[in-house]
Amino acid sequence: MAAWDLTFLGTGSAYPSPHRGASCMVLRHDLGCWVFDCGEGSQIQLMRSSIRPGRVTKIFITHLHGDHVYGLPGLLCTLSASLSEDSAPLEVYGPLGLRQFVRVALNLARSQLCYPYVVHELCHNVNPADHDGLSNWNPDPSATGQPHPKELPGRNIQRNPAGFWEICREGPLYVRAATLKHRIASFGYVITEDTLPGKLQVDKLKSLGVPPGPLYAKLKRGESIQFPQGTMISPAEVVGPGRPGRKVVLLGDTCDNEDIAPLCEEADVIVHEATNENAHEQQCRENGHSTPAMAAAFCHRMKASQLILTHFSQRYRRPNEETGHNGEEVTVDRLVLDAQNTLSRLGDTASAINVSAADDFKVYQISAKK
Ligand SMILES: [Zn+2]
Ligand SMILES: [Zn+2]
Repeated sequence: MAAWDLTFLGTGSAYPSPHRGASCMVLRHDLGCWVFDCGEGSQIQLMRSSIRPGRVTKIFITHLHGDHVYGLPGLLCTLSASLSEDSAPLEVYGPLGLRQFVRVALNLARSQLCYPYVVHELCHNVNPADHDGLSNWNPDPSATGQPHPKELPGRNIQRNPAGFWEICREGPLYVRAATLKHRIASFGYVITEDTLPGKLQVDKLKSLGVPPGPLYAKLKRGESIQFPQGTMISPAEVVGPGRPGRKVVLLGDTCDNEDIAPLCEEADVIVHEATNENAHEQQCRENGHSTPAMAAAFCHRMKASQLILTHFSQRYRRPNEETGHNGEEVTVDRLVLDAQNTLSRLGDTASAINVSAADDFKVYQISAKK
């Protein structure tokens, strides 16, 4: 597959503010644009970005807190301008209750979509702790009532015996999910690409007299070639060993990643929330969130190559941004530094893991390992 990139459309926690959108990011590759989370205001952020709305084919929701899902009905309506009756159904994935949320919102508003959509739910046990401490607050997640006229029946995806959810496979991409510890059911998504073909050994091809051009492409596709005088050359003779495909880990809100860890090893990129700085760890954990130190320690354990921090408390400004009224605001540089300090303490050799703070409209290229 050619280039992949990851665009952040919202990087703030809790609510969209004048300086940061609520959670939303888009993974763009040959198969389309996949949206991950859709906080309030994501539709306008999408319009302001270089993402073409007509290329959105899938939307994945990590959890049902408003800063990750309140933008979804609006975005679905906005996409009506770019998709059509003949479009393949737009596929939406997320926790139990998402189908009901979308159905009720679109039905009550009589929202007329011009394209079909489907909601696939990740079924999970409703945890007694999943009520924000309000033991009598236990909403019914089942989708009852009339489906929206454009809604197609979705799958109910169960946890597999290995402890994770097999979400979808499309072309060379495989998406899996596992639970994270948060105040309500929260998921992380892991996107893996199949093994990539090995590199052509050009020196060998030259010595065998194979001219560059279509014959190279044929060998790279795994086909043998034959010279007019009858000599055959098979790919095994001139193509190096396969290379690992890309692995991208996009986590929802979390204060503990134990369940998803087995899927995240050697990831090329881990996007991890860092709601507050290290000094506020206790408060962070109590709210089901992470500090940069927690994110960095996980990344280190997973031997990941790149850590992108996001989901910042709205008190953290971007570097060089004017401070607000109380003058005590700190910038996201503090959060990056917190993560880097943790990595050095863990013995991570300088810059082995690249750490950065996401920002609205920032785009990261994601390349395969060399
Ligand atoms: Zn959040
Ligand atoms: Zn949350």
